[in-house]
Amino acid sequence: MRYLILSDIHSNFEAFQAVLDDAGPVDQVWCLGDVVGYGPDPNACVELLRSFPHRCIAGNHDWATLGKLDLRDFNPDAREANLWNREQLTADNLAYLDALPETLVEGAFTLAHGSPRHPIWEYIIYTSTAETNFDHFDTPFCFVGHTHTPAIFRLNKSSGKEMCQASTPSLANLVHLETARMIINPGSVGQPRDGDPKASYAILDLEALTVEYHRVTYPVEETQAKMIKHDLPLRLALRLGYGW
Ligand code: ZN
Repeated sequence: MRYLILSDIHSNFEAFQAVLDDAGPVDQVWCLGDVVGYGPDPNACVELLRSFPHRCIAGNHDWATLGKLDLRDFNPDAREANLWNREQLTADNLAYLDALPETLVEGAFTLAHGSPRHPIWEYIIYTSTAETNFDHFDTPFCFVGHTHTPAIFRLNKSSGKEMCQASTPSLANLVHLETARMIINPGSVGQPRDGDPKASYAILDLEALTVEYHRVTYPVEETQAKMIKHDLPLRLALRLGYGW
């Protein structure tokens, strides 16, 4: 079984389509939340995701469009784009987002947007945060998104003590799953923030027990032109070109 692992599409249809084309046939899509927010195509992205066999959990931007989070906690640009996304979404797509669970367990994998401890909001950026979070899920592995940056945190045992180590995944090397417990972030499809504007995703191969990271170019200018046409904050359009 081949799974497409992705997160933070953020209403970026061109990036999402490029990822699907690049990934090729998969048995299921696992989406780690924030399908909407920021970008110009909320309905098209929700509907494209719904057209695949998939699992999806809720992210903070999904909840914000539903009024489940206080938008005052967002920066002004994110708030403005989120309100615009809210106005665009059909009742059916809002109902779909409203039904998304906060976490899911699929076999050996827990899925959470931010972290298993605080699924909607917590960012796993630091090794210390990751280490604490290993106590908050029961499966060997956990997929998270939210930071928009690909990352792997491994819980290694050395001389009886558990130690968490962070690494930036390389595109050239497969991640082998049998060695240690891990928290794995595939990066962001629709708004990467690691300085590389290419859409980020991962492929989980359950026979080989591997995770393979990928980046793919997409027509950023098309997404930016739509954002400008809809009067979305210029800064949000420009940042797509920088991968930040
Ligand atoms: Zn996000």
